[in-house]
Amino acid sequence: MSDKIHPNFIDGEWVEAKATIANVNPSDTSDSLGQFSSATVDDMSAAITAAKAAFPAWSQSGLEARKAILDFIGDELIARKEELGRLLSREEGKPLAEGIGEVARSGQFFHYFGAEVLRQMGEFASSVRPGVDIEVSREALGVVGIITPWNFPTAVAAWKIAPALAFGNSVVLKPAELVPASAWALTEIISRSGLPKGAFNLVVGSGSVVGDAMARSADVDAISFTGSVNIGRQIARNAIENMSRVQLEMGSKNALLVMDDADIDLAVQCAINGAYFGTGQKCTASSRLIVQSGIHDEFVAKMSAAMNDLKVGNALTAGTQIGPVVDQRQLEQNLRYMQIAADEGAELVQGGDTPTLDTDGYYMTPALFAASNNAMRVNREEIFGPVACVIKVDDYDEALAVSNDSDFGLTAGIMTTSLKQAAHFKRHSKSGCVMVNLPTAGTDYHVPFGGRKSSSYGPREQGQYAKEFYTIVKTNYSQPY
Ligand code: NAD
Repeated sequence: MSDKIHPNFIDGEWVEAKATIANVNPSDTSDSLGQFSSATVDDMSAAITAAKAAFPAWSQSGLEARKAILDFIGDELIARKEELGRLLSREEGKPLAEGIGEVARSGQFFHYFGAEVLRQMGEFASSVRPGVDIEVSREALGVVGIITPWNFPTAVAAWKIAPALAFGNSVVLKPAELVPASAWALTEIISRSGLPKGAFNLVVGSGSVVGDAMARSADVDAISFTGSVNIGRQIARNAIENMSRVQLEMGSKNALLVMDDADIDLAVQCAINGAYFGTGQKCTASSRLIVQSGIHDEFVAKMSAAMNDLKVGNALTAGTQIGPVVDQRQLEQNLRYMQIAADEGAELVQGGDTPTLDTDGYYMTPALFAASNNAMRVNREEIFGPVACVIKVDDYDEALAVSNDSDFGLTAGIMTTSLKQAAHFKRHSKSGCVMVNLPTAGTDYHVPFGGRKSSSYGPREQGQYAKEFYTIVKTNYSQPY
């Protein structure tokens, strides 16, 4: 239990909040991680003003100094991964190993983009006019607003902050209200990294208040948002009024295809991992399991048996595989969708119970539905919980068509031993990332990440593709004397 008050970080100073909200552990609601700011529009304005003032010097800073700052942040995240991973698991509810893994991965984002600082190359072209040279260079954009969701409290912030700073932008971070402790801990490290004051600012508060103010500000040059589709749309509408650049990473209804020729044990393992790890609270979760008729009954039986072995429990308890749902609202949403699935005629194979454990938390057992079809709401709308639905199909062509029949398109996977089917799926899946004999969740940090349709908008995140969003291109013509 902690009553510590965590202020905002604005213009290089810790600025006390006028109002605060408690951060509650979803594995144990009697445990508070402390009081966090409920910031005002004025706090957001002050942060944006500070970031704008810091931009000219920071964007022209020396590359080695910039790299050293990113390395410092990456080093400390990795060195403190156990401690900060525990904090993350305590506030978000993912099992400890996943929390520690997320913090370590976050450090790797800073290291990766630290190296990118020294790889900022331009292009040269000869002009169509003889004697004229052309250089194409990239420059920082200015103030980048970053709005993050609760499900990857440190990693999403890291994969946006690291490239933003690497390319010389100044930053205002607005994390999700449910998980401010991880953002605060990251900020505390950044505050000691040598970054000039104002180049990074943290404003913790409600999305509809400070997030909205950020999206409407004419002084924010670009907004990178990860969250739900409806909020993404709203942010884009507001940002476009100022012609601010927008990058949106949103929800999905990812499909995992299980073909008759699949290695069934591997298919079950990937389906369990993709559908239920992280309590199903991943934008890359396999919520639609599209299974061919020949393997269907055995797959459902084996999946159900494997689910019986999953250990639901307190995120911090050794052996827990499935932590709690993040909060009461999300738990109610999951249970509501369970009812919708049943009302629409899907058959509950197992799960969806709300067990009582030693600590009072938002626990739910993973749920599997069979006999569902792709028109059902549970297969069209993002639930964002440990609920997966099996859709039976006759052949690969039908499986492909069903997987692509979605408003979303972030990740998609296929379990097959057929090279022909795997190759066809890679070519014809309408999603941003395709996995063959792997879970739909779990991506690398040095390659592009993003989706299609309502899952993403704007340039890809991560790897070298990140510069498409975080820099602006300039074409310089010159005629030497
Ligand atoms: P959310 O949309 O409710 O909130 C996301 C962020 O937006 C929060 O910081 C919130 O405070 C802020 N916000 C809310 N209203 C706002 C407004 N009017 N203006 C500006 N900001 C506002 O999403 P969530 O519940 O925190 O996260 C879950 C969602 O995130 C899911 O849909 C999930 O699929 C998505 N997600 C996507 C990815 C991806 O990379 N595609 C990764 C993780 C999560």
